[in-house]
Amino acid sequence: MSHFLQEADAVVVGGGVIGASVAFHLTCAGLRPVLCEGLDLASGSSGACDGLVFLQSKKPGIHLHLALESQRRLEALRCVLPMEFEYLRRGGLVVIGDEAEYAAMERYVTAQRQNGLDVRLVDGCEARRLEPALAAGTHAAAYSPLDAQINPLRLTFALAAGARRNGARILTRTRVTGFERRAGAICAVATSRGSIQTGTVVLATGADTPRLASLMGLDLPIRPRRGQLLVTAPLAPLLRHCLISAHYIAVKYDPALAARDGASVSMEQTERGNLLLGSTREFAGYDRHTTVAGIQSIAAACTRIVPALKTVQVIRSFAGLRPWTPDGLPLLGPVPEVPGLLLAAGHEGDGIALSAITGALIAEWITSGHPHIDVQDFSPARFSDRASPKLAVNGIAS
Ligand SMILES: Cc1cc2nc3c(=O)[nH]c(=O)nc-3n(C[C@H](O)[C@H](O)[C@H](O)COP(=O)(O)OP(=O)(O)OC[C@H]3O[C@@H](n4cnc5c(N)ncnc54)[C@H](O)[C@@H]3O)c2cc1C
Repeated sequence: MSHFLQEADAVVVGGGVIGASVAFHLTCAGLRPVLCEGLDLASGSSGACDGLVFLQSKKPGIHLHLALESQRRLEALRCVLPMEFEYLRRGGLVVIGDEAEYAAMERYVTAQRQNGLDVRLVDGCEARRLEPALAAGTHAAAYSPLDAQINPLRLTFALAAGARRNGARILTRTRVTGFERRAGAICAVATSRGSIQTGTVVLATGADTPRLASLMGLDLPIRPRRGQLLVTAPLAPLLRHCLISAHYIAVKYDPALAARDGASVSMEQTERGNLLLGSTREFAGYDRHTTVAGIQSIAAACTRIVPALKTVQVIRSFAGLRPWTPDGLPLLGPVPEVPGLLLAAGHEGDGIALSAITGALIAEWITSGHPHIDVQDFSPARFSDRASPKLAVNGIAS
């Protein structure tokens, strides 16, 4: 253990897109963090997801505001990070199935426009002119030229490479097993390869965050929400835009519409031509297997929207665990009960899109104590009535 013993300005736990972004932004602020990843970079949900930077799916208000700023930052990062990450601003369509969905989307789009998003409703003809692959009977769609896509694996690797270049230590196969505290405050992190002295820890462990937080007596309301995805063989250009179904938004935000038939759909065509077709939203514990029922529901829903998919070859399927929270918003910032601990977790289906702004905000908290925007809505303390901190003072919790 002793050869490994070291100190760090901060320890970031988790090598997904969020941890990599936090580590990178800390180095931009002049710190030298250590990032500990138990397996490999992007081995959690950041390596088992789509790469949509879909602004239309963000709640009007602070959620959309963060997403807009995150997108601007992602675009700027293309010139800063040492690796390309296949960012494509294709524009996006939210495909509306019928009049009931249209009525809900009308309210939603109005609120988004009031919040500064360039988005408009189009009828079925206009939707098919924009995206000829859509089914002949397409009812309507919401269109924004701003929606984009990214390769999430490459983004994670690029952020980690940028952090390493700026002086961070990226330790893979290094599992965090406990936290040492003095007078309640964090003073060291125990890992499978030794201990690291630090006064600042950022938990960026996605759906695993409650397990780690429980080592400090915290009960966080983050739960794994499985999403299954299909990958097709590479195809000639088929989709001009990123697509989701209005049902996808309904499932996220409107329980009444979510109860209706039909799976949530997301579709994107990667730079190499493969289509990513998704996805389910299921509470199945930490089970990352795909299921026949899940695969069939995705295939049925996608082929209804884009009939040409009926003849394409699916080459694989996989599942990831979204870090779900009860209000659909992440937990960002300091945890008052444990001085030195910050959370950057619970991004559900938005972690890729919100990665850049999350890293920037956490770095601001650590270096100045004040992020440049008011993010009270994301405070971990908002669940403190549900959480039941049972804090151990002094000693290693493991
Ligand atoms: C099917 C699906 C589709 C999605 N589509 C999109 C999309 O289009 N756009 C979008 O923005 N988001 C999307 N998401 C959501 C996105 O994938 C997540 O929000 C994001 O990846 C979360 O990143 P993270 O870094 O917080 O977590 P993760 O990527 O899960 O990273 C957490 C890391 O912590 C590590 N870890 C855990 N415990 C320890 C420990 N004790 N010690 C050290 N390391 C540890 C894990 O190994 C893991 O690598 C999708 C998710 C799914 C499942």
